[in-house]
Amino acid sequence: MNITLNDTSLLKTDLYINGQWLNRDIKLAVTNPANASLVAEVSTASKEDTLDAIAAASEALKSWSQTTAKQRSALLKKWFQLIMGNQDDLASILTAEQGKVIAEAKGEIAYGASYIEWFAEEAKRINGDVIPQPSNDRRIITIKQPVGVVACITPWNFPNAMLTRKIAPALAAGCTVVCKPASETPLSALALAELAERAGIPAGVINLVVGKASIIGPVLTASSEVRKLSFTGSTQVGKLLLEECAATVKKVSMELGGNAPFIIFDDADLDAAVTGLMASKYRNAGQTCVCTNRVFVHQSIYQSFSEKLVAAVEQNLTLGDGTTEGVTTGPLINKGAVSIVVDLVEKSVAKGAKIATGGSVSELGDCFYKPTVLTAVTNDMPIATDEIFGPVAALIPFESDQQVIDMANDTKVGLAAYFYTGDISRIWRVSEQLEYGMIGVNEGIISNEMAPFGGVKESGMGREGSKYGLDDYLELKYICMGGLK
Ligand code: ADP
Repeated sequence: MNITLNDTSLLKTDLYINGQWLNRDIKLAVTNPANASLVAEVSTASKEDTLDAIAAASEALKSWSQTTAKQRSALLKKWFQLIMGNQDDLASILTAEQGKVIAEAKGEIAYGASYIEWFAEEAKRINGDVIPQPSNDRRIITIKQPVGVVACITPWNFPNAMLTRKIAPALAAGCTVVCKPASETPLSALALAELAERAGIPAGVINLVVGKASIIGPVLTASSEVRKLSFTGSTQVGKLLLEECAATVKKVSMELGGNAPFIIFDDADLDAAVTGLMASKYRNAGQTCVCTNRVFVHQSIYQSFSEKLVAAVEQNLTLGDGTTEGVTTGPLINKGAVSIVVDLVEKSVAKGAKIATGGSVSELGDCFYKPTVLTAVTNDMPIATDEIFGPVAALIPFESDQQVIDMANDTKVGLAAYFYTGDISRIWRVSEQLEYGMIGVNEGIISNEMAPFGGVKESGMGREGSKYGLDDYLELKYICMGGLK
């Protein structure tokens, strides 16, 4: 182990099933993307382990679903407090396995925890209705009940928050969970389970299986006991999981890929737009599903905006190991991720894009790609049509509002979109015409626990966070009470 922790017992390497930590012979190596060093070896789950986890969640559901909202709320709050009390250690674990800079890792722990606090509060507001009746001998009532056992499959880019965004509403609703974190980043998930146990969340309510998606995934999707799947990851895998879930008609929530446009109109505050774009494009080294993918700049300000952006990238971003003071941009998750970015840039340059800064792998190591700005990009180049998931800003000029809206919408996905303008009428018009689930107007960072996160088209279905986030974990039941005199 090469992480310094105040509490070393947060570095768990076993499976967590039915409140038991289980060691297994077949291990998964977790490596640090900044230097390829081994961080830990983690036990992996077999098919039988996954079935055991589902059985444990089913058994725990009987009592957990009968607890009061107040009891669940109290346990979630305790968990939230323990996470925040161990923020530094959790951030160190996160940076070691994922690579993001330590300040961002601390931010993710607080962001992830905010969903637990939020849903601890929302648990107490799962209200039904009394609806006016069609005849006076009856009354119509609705109640909301937990959907049951939920499978949660999460990616590596936010190893903490993608999980809390699912577990917190599930538990608040009275559901139990079986979670499979990404193989690149299981340690953050296991640390969360350790703290959940310390908070007093009963055995079987949260189960964690780490290991091969090809072994664990089909068991979760085929199970009739698992009534819902909540997935965050690629659109490709999401489609596969949707097909698999069809056999048992599970409820599904899908947070899939994006291709976020970031539009700068000619009346925008350019300095504010640069600040917003820097945050939206380069945080987590460009590895978020809401990261800007295409930057549309009005042609009258294209030159001045590109110069400001290049200056900001060259002056404000420092590539390096996320634990080093002053570093703003860490490595990509692995060499495969780097080669995707290299390929997209090369193919786009071959089609006429120009490298204004960056544009290559850094001498720091195989996983470091230099923060990059490409100009003279068109909407049909690979850097614009594909999800980059790396620190490359692709600048596309435009002439009119309708043209840029059409270009922005010319993609199969629709997660987040951003635009900068000073015109209030344009703010409404463009917000309504963009086919995206989330819109940032004069703002580059829009995700928080109070707002509904989610996409349209092939970016998925369902919403996480906000007062709407609980609905994905609840069934609505209608009770008709008749024979009244
Ligand atoms: P990413 O590009 O972020 O790695 P993926 O969609 O490949 O996105 O992975 C997201 C999560 O889905 C990870 O936990 C991964 O292990 C899991 N996963 C990948 N393929 C499958 C599958 N066929 N069945 C179930 N889970 C899968």
